[in-house]
Formats: sequence, structure tokens, C-alpha cells
Amino acid sequence: MLTWPAPQIPQLPGRGGPVRVRDTSSGRLVVAAPGQDAGLYVCGITPYDATHMGHAATYVHFDVLVRAWKDAGHRVRYASNVTDVDDPLLERAAATGVDWRDLAQEQTALYAQDMAALGVVPPDVYVGAVESVPTVVAAVEHLLAVGAAYRVPTPDALDDGLGDVYADLSVDPDFGAVAGLDAAAMISLARERGGDPDRVGKRSPLDPLLWRRERVGEPAWDGASLGRGRPGWHIECAVIARDGLGLPFDVQGGGSDLVFPHHEMSTSHARLLDAGHGAATHVHTGMVAYEGAKMSKSLGNLVLVSALRAQGVDPMAIRLAILAHRYRDDWEWTQDGQAQAEQRLATWRAALSGNGGRDAAPVIATVREALADDLDTPRALAVVDDWADRTLAAAAQGGDPTWAPGAPGLVARTVDALLGVRL
Ligand code: ZN
Repeated sequence: MLTWPAPQIPQLPGRGGPVRVRDTSSGRLVVAAPGQDAGLYVCGITPYDATHMGHAATYVHFDVLVRAWKDAGHRVRYASNVTDVDDPLLERAAATGVDWRDLAQEQTALYAQDMAALGVVPPDVYVGAVESVPTVVAAVEHLLAVGAAYRVPTPDALDDGLGDVYADLSVDPDFGAVAGLDAAAMISLARERGGDPDRVGKRSPLDPLLWRRERVGEPAWDGASLGRGRPGWHIECAVIARDGLGLPFDVQGGGSDLVFPHHEMSTSHARLLDAGHGAATHVHTGMVAYEGAKMSKSLGNLVLVSALRAQGVDPMAIRLAILAHRYRDDWEWTQDGQAQAEQRLATWRAALSGNGGRDAAPVIATVREALADDLDTPRALAVVDDWADRTLAAAAQGGDPTWAPGAPGLVARTVDALLGVRL
């Protein structure tokens, strides 16, 4: 798929240190990319309800990881997908009376516009589920061949005996290591989040769908020996990550509602496709609520980036409102939070519009230190706040003996390069 235009990232003097993040599986802080190359896979959108604040927060926070990695001298390779065919998309299209392709195309375009406005560095590898069908088919054929998958008869008259294909989780001794949940919790979450634990004919309730045979009224593609159908969601991400980054790769990321079953399953698939390798570290962003509840179309409490932009809200203020929260915390979008971000942006712009300011070197060093410490963006913002406040106070007095003529330019480049906030 085509990405959006990449923002220019200014060069800064010196270099950031190794970036630590919290690994969901172990709960420990780990150096996210121990080598020179840094590989990141962040699960993309299913293109409906794009781009609500929960999506935006995830992609903005992982964008800060990409920027911190680049600043630390890594060669970054970032891969993502768009799940442009899946049950929720088809259900939404049917419910609203639009063609699923039109819905996917329109929402994917809106997402790209929102990401460009928010200054998110686009992925190097950006693949749609539809585009991934031939490689998914080959991967599922491989899993069948090695005994890691099996066929389940479909009740539909279109079936010619091949059936749907499911992964056999019993062949993966490490299954469950990502989320660390007990069986009852896993079954409950699978039922809630798109799994089918009650499907008749499966060997185990948690076994996930790899290939769904064509059903009446559903889109389908050539599946070679699998028969016409479409990919399951987890195998789609496993294959796109493998092909885009190679296995193992450094970080698999997404919202915390993806830990189980999505990341547990896609990591298991990746392990079975490549002799024991998946993502080394799992990193998850918190959920964003609005008016007291997690954002969802059914509750009617979605805050869309495009709607805020249409109201004239500066995308950089949206970015600052997101970065005011630690990536892994749950938080709520509020009018107050938006107003504080707009005020912060105005203060920073005022401080940076002068021709001198407080020394910028400590700002660069401390912002780098904050981001290297588990992407502590609230602390990074506070460092810039402090510089801006002291610069404005000194400017009101006509400057002072520690005034540095080039400081505003250097702080602006720091904020742009590391936080993605263009001033
Ligand atoms: Zn995914």
C-alpha cells in the first residue's frame, strides 16, 4: 500500500542512548533494540472508525520510539499493515449499506491524512491484508504440511470438503508466554475479541482461524490448495512481520487490547513458521477513554482526529495532548486536556519565536534521557515547559547573563526530531 509523506527529521548534535521499554510479557524494562538494526511491527488499523484517539495515541507513541531509535543511531525498519478485509469491516459495511471496498479505501485514506497531519513517520513496509493473501496462503500450506494446522469442515454448501484451516496450538510449547493468562481468561477474551471458542470441530477452543473458506456473500481469493477464501487476522500480521522485518525482530507493538488473543496468536504463528522465533519484546499502549468509557462506535463516544482537525484544532496540539500521557497508561480524552495542550503549544511557540533563550544543551540531554527511560514523554514535555517558562520570564526582563542566542532554534529542532512536534 502507499504510505503518507514522511516528515523531515532534523539532525541534532550528539546522540541519544539505548532506549528501554517495558516488555509486556516479563513486566521488565529491556533495551528494545540491542543491535545496530531496530525492527518494529505495529499492528495497523482495520479501516472503519479511523482514526479515533485510541489509534492516534498508539501510532504517535510508537512514532516517538522510532524517533528515539533513529536519534540513538539505529537503522530503523518499521512495518505495519492494514486489515482491509476482516469480519468487523464486513459487518460495518453491511450495517451501513456501503461496499466493503469503498469503506476500506475511504477509511485508509483518512487514516493516512491523519497520520501525515500528526507528523507520524510512515512505515517502511506497509501491506494490506488483501495484498498479503498469496504469502498467507503459502504460510498456511506450510503449517498444514508440518502438522501445526488442521482443517475443520464448514457448514456452508459452498464447501468442497477442504474446510476452514485452524492452527493447532498444542504443537507450540511456548503458547501463552506473551500474555501469561490462565485458560479461563484466555477463552473469555477470545470470545470477546473475535475468536470462536465454541466452533464445532476444533481440537481446542482457543485454536485460531488461519484460513476461512468462501461463504455466500463474502469476498474470497484464490487459496491454491486451501480453496478460495480469506486470511485469518493473526496469521496476516505474522506473515507481514516475517516478510517485512525477518524473524526474530525487536518489538511487536499495539494497543493493550491486542495482547490477547492477537499478539499471543501471531507470535505463536511466527514461532512455528520460523523455528522458534517471534518478536523479542512486546510493547503495548494504554486504552483511551472518552466520557468515562472506552471509545467505541456503539457507545457513540468516538473522538476522531479528522473531526478535531475539521474544527480547526492544531494537529500538533493533538500530538501534545497524547504525549502528556505515558504510553502504557490508560487515560481519558477531555476538553481540559485538549485546552492544556493548546496552551502548551502556544507557550512553546512564544518562547521559540525570540532570538535568544536559556541554554538548550540541557534540554536536549534531558529529553533524550526521558525518552530512553521507557518513553517518558510527560517528563520530556515538562523539560521543554521549564525551558519555555524560564526563557519567557527572562525575555520579559530583557534577557540575562546566561542567554544563548541560538537556543530557540536548537530547542525547536529537539522538539521536532524527538517528539515530532513541529513549531
Ligand atoms: Zn496485528
